[in-house]
Amino acid sequence: MTGKKIVILLGPPGVGKGTQGRRLAEERDWRYLATGDVLREGVKVRPALAEAVKSYMDRGELVPDAFVNELVEALLESSDQPVVLDGYPRTLSQAEALDQMTEKIGWQVHSAILMKVNEEELVDRLTARRVCPQCGEIYNLKTQPPQQDDICDRCGQVLIVRDDDKAEVIRRRLSVYQQLTEPVVEYYRRQGRLTEVDASGSPQEVYAKLWQVTINQ
Ligand code: AMP
Repeated sequence: MTGKKIVILLGPPGVGKGTQGRRLAEERDWRYLATGDVLREGVKVRPALAEAVKSYMDRGELVPDAFVNELVEALLESSDQPVVLDGYPRTLSQAEALDQMTEKIGWQVHSAILMKVNEEELVDRLTARRVCPQCGEIYNLKTQPPQQDDICDRCGQVLIVRDDDKAEVIRRRLSVYQQLTEPVVEYYRRQGRLTEVDASGSPQEVYAKLWQVTINQ
């Protein structure tokens, strides 16, 4: 894939978009862009932003479309590599906004990849997830634990549980996904731009499939 193109990773929270997207971007020399990460980072350093968006995030609700659309447009405008987009678009209105903004700034949405896993496994994965607050590395206590308990292999920081990885918020996030993001999957399917990948295997197995489906992109 050359130039200003985008691969969108779609799928419910916990399916592995972050783990896989980061690796894919690193190995292909693309830019990994996750709206959740950008918002979490922004909240840490900008009190005004924290006030505007943190309560949505802590409840497992979506931040308003207009806000996120503007953020993504600015990020795309500042990118000169192909982009792996994770966590956006999450509503039909965001998907339409993405088509409009990419046309306006001369980018193409190349394809959308739906990562699929059953709901029981998602909850298991989210409960076992630990993240590094410093470098963003993602671990799973069962399948991809750090070498030393609770310490990031990459940068030595103490790992944390994300605020929204608590049981009751997880349920809310899954229901928001079904209500608001599944229509986005249909949007790309109808346009023939969707590829589906079974994401229930080990991280290595899933990565091999993603590598294959993005090989010509
Ligand atoms: P994630 O890390 O993708 O699970 O996102 C964490 C939280 O950030 C979500 O539960 C939302 O509150 C917010 N968020 C991330 N991406 C979006 C988006 N595209 N639209 C609205 N809210 C978002």
